[in-house]
Amino acid sequence: MEEIKVTYITTDDGLTRVEWRPKEEFMGRSNRMYTAESTKDLLRGTNLSLVSVIPVPDDSIVCDLCNAKIEEYPVPVVWDSYALCKKCLNSISKKEVHSGPIEV
Ligand SMILES: [Zn+2]
Repeated sequence: MEEIKVTYITTDDGLTRVEWRPKEEFMGRSNRMYTAESTKDLLRGTNLSLVSVIPVPDDSIVCDLCNAKIEEYPVPVVWDSYALCKKCLNSISKKEVHSGPIEV
């Protein structure tokens, strides 16, 4: 059993734990499809309504936010159960950047 590496990133929710899970942890999963009132609820796992449960092939790990296929291991997992691709992990990480054009 591999030891899981844990790192932390800063998101809108503050300090967020990222678990880097090995491929073996993604075997025998199923996708639970939910709807929620808002994206924020969906991301936080609050006020969810279960729509359906779909088995996931063991060799297919997709990003829980954008559905991109994840092929690099270990896989970063946030909020306990969200596997993310690099792009989404970067996109939820708070950066010291301006979000729009700056008028001079
Ligand atoms: Zn993604």
